Amino acid sequence: MEDCIFCKIINREVPGDIVYEDDEIIAFRDIHPCAPVHILVIPKKHISSLIDITEEDEKVIGKIYGVINKIAQKEGILDKGYRVIINCGEDGGQVVKHIHFHLLGGKKMGVKVC
Ligand code: 5GP
Ligand code: ZN
Repeated sequence: MEDCIFCKIINREVPGDIVYEDDEIIAFRDIHPCAPVHILVIPKKHISSLIDITEEDEKVIGKIYGVINKIAQKEGILDKGYRVIINCGEDGGQVVKHIHFHLLGGKKMGVKVC
């Protein structure tokens, strides 16, 4: 996708603080972190939103959760726990239209999710 900022990070057209990469998935630090650890985990395939996943995307979406655990371990937040957020569509507050999993940790978060 030409105008997608996250595709540009994948293609090294825009710099990103990349913490994980394999053939299907990449993860980089959020530019405006709201927790001591705030990492965005994304499939390299441009999928606009969780709303748009197809059956063929389900494998990589599932794999992302395993990658999240690997990153959490590396970041030292696996034992105490973390939060994963996927903003989805307009009411979900999604700004960047390339599906992304926010991995948040390193501080105690509130019990409320909204
Ligand atoms: P959303 O609201 O779409 O779920 O979250 C988009 C996230 O992407 C925000 O937390 C924002 O800070 C982050 N973000 C937006 N542009 C960039 C960028 O160019 N680089 C990085 N690393 N993060 C970005
Ligand atoms: Zn994209």
